Amino acid sequence: MNESLLHLYELQKIDSQLDELIENRGELPQRVDDLRQMVLEQRARLQDADQHVAEVDKRSSEVHQEIIELREKVEKYKAQQFDVKTTREYDAITFQLEDGQKRLARHVDESARLGLELEQTRTEASSMKEDLLEMETDLAQQEVTLKSLMAETEEDEKQLLKKRAATLKLVRPNHIGMYDRVRPAKNGIAVVPVRNGVCGGCFNAIPRQLVLELKKGDKHAVCEYCGRIVVGEVISLAVDGEPQPMPAQVAHNEEEEESE
Ligand SMILES: [Zn+2]
Repeated sequence: MNESLLHLYELQKIDSQLDELIENRGELPQRVDDLRQMVLEQRARLQDADQHVAEVDKRSSEVHQEIIELREKVEKYKAQQFDVKTTREYDAITFQLEDGQKRLARHVDESARLGLELEQTRTEASSMKEDLLEMETDLAQQEVTLKSLMAETEEDEKQLLKKRAATLKLVRPNHIGMYDRVRPAKNGIAVVPVRNGVCGGCFNAIPRQLVLELKKGDKHAVCEYCGRIVVGEVISLAVDGEPQPMPAQVAHNEEEEESE
């Protein structure tokens, strides 16, 4: 029997168990990841919004101060109008007064606009903050659920990964290369035994001559229908101990592949 093929079949068994374990965790790990990402993005958005509020607030204060100064100037020009000695001086002061009044009016308009903008940006920022708090609460709850879910399977996963690493060392690189290519394309099942003359993956008949050649377990074949790595039943018996029921999942997936 080819030891590398034997361990390759073992690797398949371990990986199938790992796949099942991860599948049983459901969508929660992904959902928690997504939530974490959303919380980070929301924090960044809130930071931008807070910065915007601060900028508008600062500009608003500046305009407010400028209004106070312009009002003082306008009052000063008004007083000076009574103090002038010549028409020329009067015209000059009147020009400055009118200019000051125009600028004052523009500043008052801008102040009103900034007031509205400030209110709006503050409302936006505070609703963002509420959303963020809600998301953070949700995340914290989901993280607790995930933690207990992981605790149930974490040890199993650790053991399987350890076994996987040890098994991997016993498989020849060319077998691993083949396995890594086939597995993702075949829904995780890359190595199957030949059983009763059919491929354990797609149940199509394997040529009789090939079945005989696989019997001793010292070589493999590639199923001409599904492309999986087929090994003699002697290998699966050595690993499983006894004939395993044909996995229903494989049969089901095969139907899907045929309809592609
Ligand atoms: Zn097949």
